[in-house]
Amino acid sequence: MDRLGVDYVDFYLLHALDKKKWQTVLDLHVLDVVEKLQKQGKIKHLGFSFHDTYPVFEEIITYRSWDFCQIQYNYLDTDIQAGDRGYALAEKLNVPLVIMEPIKGGTLTRLPEDISAILKAVDPQASLASWALRWVGSHKNVKVILSGMSSYDQVKDNLATFKDFKPLNKQEKEAVEEVQRVIKSRQKNGCTACAYCMPCPFGINIPKNFQYWNEASMLNQPERLKDGYESLKDAKAEFCKQCGACEKLCPQHISIREDLKRIAEEVKSL
Ligand code: SF4
Ligand code: SF4
Repeated sequence: MDRLGVDYVDFYLLHALDKKKWQTVLDLHVLDVVEKLQKQGKIKHLGFSFHDTYPVFEEIITYRSWDFCQIQYNYLDTDIQAGDRGYALAEKLNVPLVIMEPIKGGTLTRLPEDISAILKAVDPQASLASWALRWVGSHKNVKVILSGMSSYDQVKDNLATFKDFKPLNKQEKEAVEEVQRVIKSRQKNGCTACAYCMPCPFGINIPKNFQYWNEASMLNQPERLKDGYESLKDAKAEFCKQCGACEKLCPQHISIREDLKRIAEEVKSL
């Protein structure tokens, strides 16, 4: 507060909670500390931001009565992280939402041409960013949408989207649903990133390997696989020992070993 030059903080987040950090919050009794600060009026609204799977989200959001919560949400990420189920639960619990990644880090502005044509057919003038933002903003429990911008044109476009904001109408919603359907039909496998198969005894990050593979295919952006795969270092598909332990745990019955082999081979050919 000294550094900010304020006497209290309006919105205070326990930031980027996942399973491990949430355990740390509990072990170190962090909630006792922030709740005391809130009683003293030094925190007005207490929330958390989140990056993990839905079961972890459910555990955290139902643990106490939060004032708000910040999640990743966009029309492509409806099944991963908190996703649609997380949105519905927050709404049911009356926890207002702040949304990160509404355009998926810019990905939804770089759709393959045949897919963007579905949206252009409905509104030739609207930017792809505006479709993504309006989809998020059409959810009534979304109160704030955070979008990273890297040019003045993007600032102007986003401002135009939110000036006299209009939720998606029926025809527009159907167009986005069609985009979702086409993109998802290009998935390589049906991994939902639930992480039930984790941890792999040999350190392979199974859901991340599949995420990069699926996204590269869905969006026709092979570089997503190349760059994402390289960032995995020792957790890359090529280090899979083919032990099979993970496959018994996958609710989607994915041939994890076979698919990891395919990923390793595909990356080699890029
Ligand atoms: S088959 Fe591969 S990914 Fe699955 S648990 Fe064994 S080493 Fe890990
Ligand atoms: S491979 Fe199966 S268990 Fe593992 S994250 Fe994907 S869907 Fe879940």
